[in-house]
Amino acid sequence: MRRVIFHIDQNCYFASVEMISHPEYRNVPMAVVGDKERRHGIILAKNQLASMAGVKTAEVIWQAQSKCPDLVLAPAHYDKYQFYSRKLREMYLEYTDKVEPFGLDECWLDLTDTIGDRDPQEVADEIRERVKSEYKLTCSVGVSFNKIFAKLGSDYKKPDATTVITEENFKQIVWPLPCSDLLFVGKSTRERLNKVNIKTIGDLAGSTGEFLNDYLGKNGYQLWLYANGLDDSEVKTADYKRTVKSVGNSTTTSDDMCSLREISSTFLTLSSSVAGRLRRAGLKGKVVQITVRDSALNVYEKQKVLFNDTDSARVIHECAVELFKESYDWHLPVRSIGVRLTDLVSSDAPEQLSLFEEVDRNEKEDRLEKTVDTIRERFGKKSLMLLGELGNKAENRREEGDSQNQDKEFDTK
Ligand SMILES: [Mg+2]
Repeated sequence: MRRVIFHIDQNCYFASVEMISHPEYRNVPMAVVGDKERRHGIILAKNQLASMAGVKTAEVIWQAQSKCPDLVLAPAHYDKYQFYSRKLREMYLEYTDKVEPFGLDECWLDLTDTIGDRDPQEVADEIRERVKSEYKLTCSVGVSFNKIFAKLGSDYKKPDATTVITEENFKQIVWPLPCSDLLFVGKSTRERLNKVNIKTIGDLAGSTGEFLNDYLGKNGYQLWLYANGLDDSEVKTADYKRTVKSVGNSTTTSDDMCSLREISSTFLTLSSSVAGRLRRAGLKGKVVQITVRDSALNVYEKQKVLFNDTDSARVIHECAVELFKESYDWHLPVRSIGVRLTDLVSSDAPEQLSLFEEVDRNEKEDRLEKTVDTIRERFGKKSLMLLGELGNKAENRREEGDSQNQDKEFDTK
């Protein structure tokens, strides 16, 4: 039976939630900020009018204000964002018990077994209308026969729209889009694909699985499947317990960090401690979150969902560094960083076949990390460092001159 998958994405979520209790925000450019008292506070979210004035998420307040002098600043209320997120999921559960949250403002729904004779477009429109009338929020819904295209559909037309991507129309709708519109195609994969003249999702689909497998490893083959509409990953049954647990670690360094090398080395130490704790607890996790605090104490958070549950220090470390590179612009040195794994399951949970992030991880590496755990348990944390940690420490010493130069650059700002 053809699957019916929805992906529902709330539009301008934080800003929209603020507009529920402050209707006056609807008619002015408005942005949600972490802490407006601090000069270096940043924009966490903005409404449509602020977007139109050029305000961007993650830029500092004064930058946004220089583009949009009338910008109204609203303080963030995470408890409210969580509250509405739970309410919306409860509504989705009326349609199916297969609801998989993706961050606070997105969910996949699998309606295959519950939709009966109803038209998927009609059901999607009904959910949109209910979200609007019951909560004064708007969302975009992607309807498709797999999760990847459903996600793409919710991005395709917004705000407040439904996009249906079928087996009949996906070539017209999806193939002209840049390959980076596919979930899991990050900046580095996009660059590598562009090098071999693969620019659109259609180019990906038209390439061969063999070529992409040779060029990018199994990840490449997986992307080829996605581009051709062959993603068969499942929407997971709602299980709130799974999302509650997390294992994380953070640190404040004695001197502010000024280079990616220092960040990477610190993330490696944190990642191996997180991975060690996960393995001892017999858990694996699927969502990697990083927290970055700059020297003005602004906090940035960013997260990424892995293809598969992991307890590997290497996978967590790579993901943390990638997230950092994508989200931090070095406007200030970094005071502290943290990494956290959430969406945890027991390690014996069956792995999906769509191995992606971990395909090149071999058993040897597994055994090595476990041995490291054992030695650390017996002789203390510092007794053994992964080779990368040692390498980075040595390089850090050599780079001391460089980071001092960078310090000076920051001073001149
Ligand atoms: Mg959203």
